[in-house]
Amino acid sequence: VRELGLLEHASEGQVLNYIGGEFVPAQAGRWLEDLDPARNRRIASIPRSESSDVDDAANAASEARRGAWGQSGVGERADLLEAVADKIEARLDDFARLESLDTGKPFALARSVDIPRAVANFRFFAGAVRHQSTGCHSMANALNYTVRKPVGTFGLITPWNLPLYLLSWKTAPALAMGNCVVAKPSELTPLTASALAEVFSEIGAPAGCFNLVHGLGAEVGQAIVEHEDITGISFTGGTETGKRVAATAAPMFKKLSLELGGKNPSIVFADCDLEKTVEGVVRAAFANQGQVCLCGSRILVERSIYDQFSAAFVERVRELRPGDPQQGDTNFGALISLGHRDKVEGYAKLAAEEGGEILCGGKRPELSGDLAEGAFFEPTVVAGLAPSSRCSTEEIFGPVVTLHPFDTEAEALEIANGVRYGLAASVWTNDLTRAHRVSEAIESGMVWVNTWLLRDLRVPFGGMKDSGVGREGGRHSLEFFSETRNICIQL
Ligand code: NAD
Repeated sequence: VRELGLLEHASEGQVLNYIGGEFVPAQAGRWLEDLDPARNRRIASIPRSESSDVDDAANAASEARRGAWGQSGVGERADLLEAVADKIEARLDDFARLESLDTGKPFALARSVDIPRAVANFRFFAGAVRHQSTGCHSMANALNYTVRKPVGTFGLITPWNLPLYLLSWKTAPALAMGNCVVAKPSELTPLTASALAEVFSEIGAPAGCFNLVHGLGAEVGQAIVEHEDITGISFTGGTETGKRVAATAAPMFKKLSLELGGKNPSIVFADCDLEKTVEGVVRAAFANQGQVCLCGSRILVERSIYDQFSAAFVERVRELRPGDPQQGDTNFGALISLGHRDKVEGYAKLAAEEGGEILCGGKRPELSGDLAEGAFFEPTVVAGLAPSSRCSTEEIFGPVVTLHPFDTEAEALEIANGVRYGLAASVWTNDLTRAHRVSEAIESGMVWVNTWLLRDLRVPFGGMKDSGVGREGGRHSLEFFSETRNICIQL
């Protein structure tokens, strides 16, 4: 990062916290290493913050709320979000390079999806808050009107798979509604959050409205969730971590949104458009190396086309070739860390032990030079496993998918709903009536028909069952990041 000069404040390769408008190290002066997973080399150091750093950030936020930020109007806040979007857009290549180095995802993907989406999030919520309205209920002798006020300070805790994309998805509506933010990105992918802090600094955002503390989840993340002055938590991450966050935040009556894990089905019916379906299901399975919470990792196929579909699917998957994320033509990058690669590899081995047949992948690719040290794993397709097997029910969060034949719609639904998760699903059919019927019967927060991850930022986003609680997106975000209050006037 130092050689590339991508983060201005980190001239020595030491990325800093951003608290009260200042770039500062952790009070205890401790550091963590940040690695490029494609080469397993250190690219920066980040502060290993503790509860005292969270105290500073929470105090800075409280002060901002008492000051100019607390008095700001909707127009000013929308202008600020637009200014953030403009600056990120102007530095698109820098942001994409940082994201790709940190995550191991292809630069081309970060440049075409992650960063533009972060820009869109800021622009979208600038528009949304400008156009929002609240209700009025008149009675014969009284008038009720509803107002939405800031909640206070929000702790925003985010994972490593879509670092800026998800942080911006929370930061934009939180600020739009007049709250302050204490953000904690994953310790594995801290860089674009710090680049975002530079943007807030450059545009002269009021000190303390956006604060950033780096460090480990169990230390600084936990301290954010426990902090008395942090009145709301928006968390995206794993289900087990989500349980801990809920156990701490719920008795404190904090506003809480939990976006957690998934094990999503892609359901392919015989009457689908096969070519388009193969293309879509491959994308759903292996986008970002299978590390998107929405990825379709259980592929259920009607038996009459099972052989034809799986042959075409595997042929297409073989075109995904792990390679250097920094090269423009790479279509499949590294996983987030060697530890995660080992976990994914463990599941590929377990699949064989559970009686599965590995149709492709199942091993580390042979890459040369320093990429040989990287966290790579081949896209892997497994057939022949029982839908109840561990590989078919546990979240792997990597490039390993399982194929399952089904005979009837009822059986497809039984398999689809037979897991603890309920985040997303895709249904592939040309029968409109069936598409409606099946979509409504699937237990998941989101269903796509004949597509995957087609996003309109106005729609509710979130999961059911062990995939989370609450919805974000459009007016759902504006409601979550505010306190809705009713005022009744006797006439
Ligand atoms: P994780 O749960 O390990 O970490 C998520 C964040 O929580 C990180 O910033 C981490 O430092 C922090 N954290 C860890 N322990 C904490 C604690 N005790 N208190 C507070 N914060 C703590 O998840 P991950 O491995 O970074 O991300 C992968 C997971 O995220 C997958 O399960 C994936 O499905 C899920 N995810 C869900 C969505 C969604 O929208 N539902 C989106 C992306 C990722």
